[in-house]
Amino acid sequence: MEDLANIRKRLEDKLHELTNRVVDIEGDLRTPNDDDWSEDASESQNDETLQGIESMAVGEIGKIKRALLKIKDGTYGNCEECGERISMKRLEALMYATKCVGCAEPVK
Ligand SMILES: [Zn+2]
Repeated sequence: MEDLANIRKRLEDKLHELTNRVVDIEGDLRTPNDDDWSEDASESQNDETLQGIESMAVGEIGKIKRALLKIKDGTYGNCEECGERISMKRLEALMYATKCVGCAEPVK
């Protein structure tokens, strides 16, 4: 299916991008803070922000890897709750959706 190949490509691109970002941040965080002491406070604040971005990226990487595994074993696009197919439209908007609209947003 061409759509699936497309999504797979997008997932792989995204995975690549996020992995690079994490590597960048890791490098940044490991760099010892400047010897200019006056900048210490803002530097450690910056580190906290970076750590936040990093953990978000790491979480996303996990989801993408799961989605890629599902593509590989042919279960991608099946709702984890009810087993129904998740619509392509939804998958295109949220590539690593694991639940169909009905299950993700239960009727109140
Ligand atoms: Zn469902």
